Amino acid sequence: MGTLKVMISRDELKAKTKELAARISEDYSGMELLLVGVLKGGFMFLADLARELTIDVNLDFISCSSYGNATVSSGVVRILKDIDYDITGKHVLLVEDLVDTGLTLNYLKELFGAKGCASVKVCTILDKPSRRKVVMMPDYEGIVIPDAFVVGYGLDYAEKYRNLPDVCIVCDD
Ligand code: 5GP
Repeated sequence: MGTLKVMISRDELKAKTKELAARISEDYSGMELLLVGVLKGGFMFLADLARELTIDVNLDFISCSSYGNATVSSGVVRILKDIDYDITGKHVLLVEDLVDTGLTLNYLKELFGAKGCASVKVCTILDKPSRRKVVMMPDYEGIVIPDAFVVGYGLDYAEKYRNLPDVCIVCDD
């Protein structure tokens, strides 16, 4: 691993999170909202987003991994930890760290839709639209980044760097 350089600072992340939280609070005003954090990467953004919301929400988590290796993604996702709630009739907002190929969220949206929730939408703090393999437009899109491998703010490299407060890029030196 080379040197880490900040790509998106904690201040930029905070400002964008506030902006997204304001929109979500307005859009879901008077509704019952269940935030579902996608583990592990989504934990930090979910914690920050939840604290900026001005509406009452329920919280849950789901953990999943793709089958096969990253370069030949099948789009089939394995659920490692399912949600605890009965989501029938609930408004669900999936909270992600980063949308890349879109395969994970595409699968999760279909899965939640089939479970009979009232609505299922997606909020992500980072987005790499240039890498999409399926049509996946986050309903609440944070910061668009170029096609580079990033770590920090929940994102790991071999389970390291998730706790960095900024989103960093790894530079060879
Ligand atoms: P996809 O949209 O391809 O199904 O999967 C997105 C997930 O892949 C993200 O939640 C994240 O866990 C992982 N991922 C995609 N790009 C990166 C990256 O640049 N760095 C890290 N650490 N994880 C990534």
